[in-house]
Amino acid sequence: MWRIGMGYDLHRTEAGRPLILGGVRIESAVGLAGHSDADVVLHAVSDALLGAAGLGDIGELYPDTDPAFAGADSAVLLRDVVQRVAGEGLGVVSVDVTVVAERPKLSAHKGRMRETIGELVGLDAGRVGVKAKTNEGVDAVGRGEAIACYAVALVGPREG
Ligand code: MG
Repeated sequence: MWRIGMGYDLHRTEAGRPLILGGVRIESAVGLAGHSDADVVLHAVSDALLGAAGLGDIGELYPDTDPAFAGADSAVLLRDVVQRVAGEGLGVVSVDVTVVAERPKLSAHKGRMRETIGELVGLDAGRVGVKAKTNEGVDAVGRGEAIACYAVALVGPREG
């Protein structure tokens, strides 16, 4: 049976922190605050996959109160999520992402983000969507105080 899941995440921006979105390091005056590497995109994708497989959420599986996950590479967490999903007899069919960031401009990075997310979840880039939006200057995201991400993921019976 095919199952769909959705994920959402938001991290505050912070000067002097790296900006890593979808596993891609992006040149920027500000990065994202967080206990881990604060990759808001991979966090949303991870939650979408966990939701689709009925496995909870990253907050309960990788608690930010656990020193083991301080500075954690979100790519490692996502690979672990894919393993857990596979443990349920499910494979990833497609992933679709919308990042909401006022700055920097992300259009030049979307292709690499698709490829990187695809490598992490075991999909061709053609089955990974990445859209970038601004928040039209409205609210905290629009003022550049945070970056948010929405993701959906479809999983289905593993082939072979
Ligand atoms: Mg997060």
